[in-house]
Amino acid sequence: MAEADAVIVGSGVNGLVAAAELALAGWSVVLVEREPNIGGFIATEERTLLGYLHDTYSSWHPLFVSGPAYARLGELLHRHGLEYRNADEWVTASVADDGRVTLAHRDPRRTAEGFAHDEDRAAYLAALGRLGDNMAAIGGLMSGELRSPAVFRPAAALLRGGGRRGVERWVRSVAASGRGYARAEFRGDEVDHLFAPWLLHAGLSPDHASGAFLMTLLAASLHGVGVPVVGGGAGRFVDAFTSLPATTGVRVETGTRVDRILVEQGRAVGVASGGRVFRARRAVLASVTPTALYGTLLPQGSVRPELRDQARRFRYGRAAMQIHVALSQPLGWRDARLNTVLVVYLSDGSGSTGIACAEAEAGLLPRRPTVVVGQQYVLDSSRVPPGAAALWLQLQELPPTPRGDAAGELDTAQGWTPELAQGYADRVLSRIARHAPDLPGKILAVDVIAPRTSPAGTPTRSTATRTVARSNSTRAFSGALCPPPDGMRPTSAGSGTSAPPLTRGRGWAVSPGTWWPPRSPQGPDSPACPGSHPGAGSEADAV
Ligand SMILES: Cc1cc2nc3c(=O)[nH]c(=O)nc-3n(C[C@H](O)[C@H](O)[C@H](O)COP(=O)(O)OP(=O)(O)OC[C@H]3O[C@@H](n4cnc5c(N)ncnc54)[C@H](O)[C@@H]3O)c2cc1C
Repeated sequence: MAEADAVIVGSGVNGLVAAAELALAGWSVVLVEREPNIGGFIATEERTLLGYLHDTYSSWHPLFVSGPAYARLGELLHRHGLEYRNADEWVTASVADDGRVTLAHRDPRRTAEGFAHDEDRAAYLAALGRLGDNMAAIGGLMSGELRSPAVFRPAAALLRGGGRRGVERWVRSVAASGRGYARAEFRGDEVDHLFAPWLLHAGLSPDHASGAFLMTLLAASLHGVGVPVVGGGAGRFVDAFTSLPATTGVRVETGTRVDRILVEQGRAVGVASGGRVFRARRAVLASVTPTALYGTLLPQGSVRPELRDQARRFRYGRAAMQIHVALSQPLGWRDARLNTVLVVYLSDGSGSTGIACAEAEAGLLPRRPTVVVGQQYVLDSSRVPPGAAALWLQLQELPPTPRGDAAGELDTAQGWTPELAQGYADRVLSRIARHAPDLPGKILAVDVIAPRTSPAGTPTRSTATRTVARSNSTRAFSGALCPPPDGMRPTSAGSGTSAPPLTRGRGWAVSPGTWWPPRSPQGPDSPACPGSHPGAGSEADAV
């Protein structure tokens, strides 16, 4: 039996921060993780080809960098290898189906200069100014337990700052949707176009309450800290934590799933995993889902019935998909300004994003999904071979259990099969190709991480066995799995990388395979495999 001051369940960013802070405060800590690697949703892997480092899940750290943990640990982490890359100029953009582009600059004034109406420029800057003036109080409210006395002080500060009218404005912004806010406050559609898709990162749709407040908060964070990415890949973030001297005293137990939290006389005193017990002298911390915490980990009777009842009614939100694309060269967007923008959203604003969210929430695969296109290589060329590029694509409007396809094209009857995942990835890539026509000819490999729930709710593993490349004449190739070119097989080698896990928590399945788009015009029956180095493909041999 092991014993420490604190036992922490889960080694995602929250577990890592908690372990570091407690260790710095002199506590002994055991960190228990069920996966073979620590980091939770932070990992960097060569998921497609050798030399292509993809951030498997999360990649952008604006919320971490603007939060209190970074204020306390940032300097130390930097001394232990963490390096952020950030953009000083144009950071994000939205491109609509009709080709209309709205860009956001680090400087709010430069962003507002792109708005068509004078009053919108003033309204945008005024909203950011109001938030800035009240940020300390709002931050206090957001990071405190609403029922704890600790919120009185920030609430009083908010009242002092803006009076009853000011407080009323904030309360209304928490109740209103992003779509409603953008329509009410602005004549033009730039703010809606830019920030409605960002609401997806908060798990919202443009029609959900609190979007009004979050749109301004997200805009402020973008202007304040940009969208930092970790030099060398997000996995280096985990490396920095593991090399902190304070955390070297942290005992890490990977491959250890906690089955139960031990409770004695109303106090959590440890955890059990199989036959092993980890005793906690002072605290047990668990960064797991409410369903797991209250449903299985805590013993019956140890939690107030009303709390258990609340947890029973907790529902997971929409599912998501992550697609990694290895490119022979950087993407050439129709609007060349997008070539150097870090994060591009394919969205018409709350128009298309609202419809896609509604479709997903109704169980349908969206016809026109919002595609988040990350181009980290723009800031960090060390992630790709010389002259090459990679895309980090995120889809946040998916049903966990698909009941149909809003476009009427894909068969969803068997749930999230590899074929469905690849068919949907094909739709996503086609959507990007409308705005970057050279995409199909530059794709070397595609890796898809899909939701894993079948219609019956049984977890299933997604495997990639088909090509997903679409020809310039919209002819889809399917049914071909080429072996990786010599010397380019994905491996787990390299700093900050880890062997691809087969499954991950929270309803994700990780496809263990990568498929290789054919790069000859021979047709679906005899696709050729890609050349033997990233630059091998050319426009001439593109399908
Ligand atoms: C695809 C994707 C992309 C994202 N992109 C971004 C982004 O770019 N920027 C951003 O800021 N946020 C992003 N997020 C959100 C971010 O990943 C989460 O906010 C973050 O992971 C939360 O950290 P956590 O420590 O609470 O949980 P997690 O990262 O989920 O970690 C929980 C850990 O607990 C372990 N665990 C669970 N149960 C047990 C058990 N019983 N026993 C032992 N171990 C257990 C899990 O294996 C896991 O390692 C993204 C999320 C996803 C899914």
